[in-house]
Amino acid sequence: MELPVIRKSADLSVEPNLREYAAACKTFSWDSAQEWIDGLPGGGVNIAYEAVDRHVVHGRGDHVALRCLGKQTQTDITYAELARRTNTFANALRSLGIEPGQRVFSLVGRVPALYVAILGTLKAGSVFAPLFSAFGPEPVKQRVVIGSGVAMVTSAALYRKKVAPVRDEMPTLQHILLVDEPGDDVSDIPGALHLTELLAEQSEEFDLAQTGPEDMSLLHFTSGTTGTPKAAVHVHGAVVAHYATGHFALDLHAEDIYWCTADPGWVTGTSYGVISPLTHGLTMIVDEGEFDARRWYRTLAEHHVSVWYTAPTAIRMLMRAGPELAKEYDLSSVRFVASVGEPLNPEAVVWGREVLGLTIHDNWWQTETGGIMIANYAACDVYPGSMGQPMPGITAGVLQRGEEGRAQAGPDGHVVEVPAGEIGELALRTGWPSMFRAYLDEEQRYNKCFVDGWYLTGDLAKRDENGYFWFIGRADDVIKTAGHLIGPFEVESVLMEDPRVAEAGVIGVPDPMMGERIKAFVSLKPGVDDDPKTLRRELTAHARRRLGPAVAPREIEFSDNLPKTRSGKIMRRLLRARELGLPEGDLSTLETGPVPANEEA
Ligand code: AMP
Repeated sequence: MELPVIRKSADLSVEPNLREYAAACKTFSWDSAQEWIDGLPGGGVNIAYEAVDRHVVHGRGDHVALRCLGKQTQTDITYAELARRTNTFANALRSLGIEPGQRVFSLVGRVPALYVAILGTLKAGSVFAPLFSAFGPEPVKQRVVIGSGVAMVTSAALYRKKVAPVRDEMPTLQHILLVDEPGDDVSDIPGALHLTELLAEQSEEFDLAQTGPEDMSLLHFTSGTTGTPKAAVHVHGAVVAHYATGHFALDLHAEDIYWCTADPGWVTGTSYGVISPLTHGLTMIVDEGEFDARRWYRTLAEHHVSVWYTAPTAIRMLMRAGPELAKEYDLSSVRFVASVGEPLNPEAVVWGREVLGLTIHDNWWQTETGGIMIANYAACDVYPGSMGQPMPGITAGVLQRGEEGRAQAGPDGHVVEVPAGEIGELALRTGWPSMFRAYLDEEQRYNKCFVDGWYLTGDLAKRDENGYFWFIGRADDVIKTAGHLIGPFEVESVLMEDPRVAEAGVIGVPDPMMGERIKAFVSLKPGVDDDPKTLRRELTAHARRRLGPAVAPREIEFSDNLPKTRSGKIMRRLLRARELGLPEGDLSTLETGPVPANEEA
């Protein structure tokens, strides 16, 4: 789909934060941005202070921080109230003997208690590790074990379904903090406490932990091609990037009503569904419900949302609901729309212009970068299909790849940037504040991400003559399905648990709604002659039970000859080639994701 550039000079209803992109890139520095946050005496910094308490200190305590849309109720929480509640949570952690640096996990939907828990944990100097509530027991267990979680905020129902089956395998986990109202019998849950009761006993005053910029704040789990999930370590000093990226890329202002549709179980839902917006002192919508096109439009209209940060899968689902539905609602309050997580197809940009009357601004980042790195800005022209230009303070490059398909240093130790228009690995010059500081306990895996002063993203991209970046695909085999990053190895391992399975290879295949759909190719052990239909049903059920619906394969195909390297490793790229009907020799065409339709626009 060929689309012309969207010129922005005449398109702005409000003076945007970033008016002159080129000038800002010259003048901006991360050192000078430190002035945008308050900090703590003696050079300290604490994310929760910047997100909550400082607004109270500056006289905005009465401003609504969270507007929580429950299934039946609506609750507004002001900054002052949030400060008090997060203090009680921090005190509760102390009363349980949970120390700074120790890890508190969550496995719960978007209820107010989750937000109190995240910010309260950060106030206490402990580390928060959010999990996606659609994960099954296996992904939950792996992550809690890697992070040595001592406490988990969850509900009794989620606990019984997803934690109880693997509780014995998580020896560090002592405290289960239930968000349910007290009343039900929870004696089957070892270490269970009702948060309402626990918090009611605590003081609303708390001496904030004097965290430093390099102290660990959050653990975000992400998946690689092989091995266990990786726990990306983030620090309190990242908050300056959360503030700055919200300012530049999402055009946040203190009077905004802002809605990020991502779940805090993933990094977008924490960085931009909790921290960044609150550092701006605005009012944030927290919607407990799952996707529903009518309710979403109603939420935008009734709550006068001005800035909306969402994802391509959600936009495609709204597109499917038809333009008439959107027309039933007054969406005139919406000033700025941004999207992240997967390629934003140009059709979605056209839909945004036609149906919402607004440009959808694609931006790019990942778990490891902690914040938005490349974006389309309110005042800059948009080339539909491009993810935009690097943030002020960020240097992005497209690096030449070696034989393995990843950027590689030459014999002189240096990498080479490819010319405009050529595909290479997307890389970022190291040193921005929200960059991850480690993969927990995996130094080698971390070190492999860096070469010659660049952080290698694992994505393939190209840059055009105007300096805009275009996403091409992944350089590795990880899968992006409905915006969620899934490691094929995790899925393969669970399929292999069935004694009838000899081998499994898992890939993402293109899907019109989810971007990619998880498909498994399975070879069976000799002599297994079960009815394929029944076997497929049983394997699917097993995978869904162990992994949860977000991670389990949607499709299973039985195949006797899975393509392998000489050393016996399954070649997922060749599976992909087969699936797409591409010649197996031509691996260059196998990069995931659509090729931008409008390079020359
Ligand atoms: P995660 O770490 O789960 O946030 O996933 C990050 C990955 O999502 C990136 O490395 C990309 O592969 C993909 N991604 C994020 N934003 C975009 C975007 N705007 N366009 C295309 N892919 C994206």
